[in-house]
Amino acid sequence: MIVTIDGPAGAGKSTVSRALAARLGFDFLDTGAMYRAITLAAVRNQVAWSRPDELAALARSVRIEVAERRVWLDGDDVSSAIRANEITNLVHYSANNPSVRERMVELQRAAAQGRNMVTEGRDQGTVVFPDAECKIYLTASPSERARRRYAELAARGETVAFAEILAQQQLRDERDAARTCGPLAAARDSIEVLTDGLSPDQVVDRLEALARRSLNLPTTTSTSRSLPQSA
Ligand code: C5P
Repeated sequence: MIVTIDGPAGAGKSTVSRALAARLGFDFLDTGAMYRAITLAAVRNQVAWSRPDELAALARSVRIEVAERRVWLDGDDVSSAIRANEITNLVHYSANNPSVRERMVELQRAAAQGRNMVTEGRDQGTVVFPDAECKIYLTASPSERARRRYAELAARGETVAFAEILAQQQLRDERDAARTCGPLAAARDSIEVLTDGLSPDQVVDRLEALARRSLNLPTTTSTSRSLPQSA
């Protein structure tokens, strides 16, 4: 069984998708982390952004492992390094490269083979898992999303002006939506969930109810669950 959660940057997908997977007893796949890891690999290997063929070759040669909250690049734990603002601003080179995407789609499908999984990204319901049993499009207003990103960076000790975050986010949204290969889009059979004004727990409650209904799983009676400490 596959639950896809797609949506724009800062909609809170990672936090709630991870929590949803825990509630359902499913595995979780953060596909944005994979594009970030390729981007970090390119920085470390000094791949020129003007050479998309080199980036594509790199995507085929590096080993990316994603498990729980950690990401490894050729065995090196890069979980924190891939979240740096520098990587966020460069990740479009990987995301807009059709050969890189092709490789990521292969890896994502392989990761889901024979498993129940909640997978989050931009193209999970449209391209990677078009037959997923439950598809959710998670979104929030631009200011709410930028506010969350600001808080996330501040927690990492990175200070970036709010206006700059908002501008970067808008650019990222436009790039994500404009590419021809795997653009950010709501699958026609997805359910849209707007998270403005909702706490992460409230969002997870809503997603869990939707997922259980779509997957024909029994509903739960517990009401006092909370999210993991850091997501
Ligand atoms: O979700 P996150 O912000 O970590 O994703 C990083 C970047 O990876 C996004 O800006 C997007 O361009 C790209 N991405 C993608 N397809 C996915 C997941 C992420 O293009 N399935």
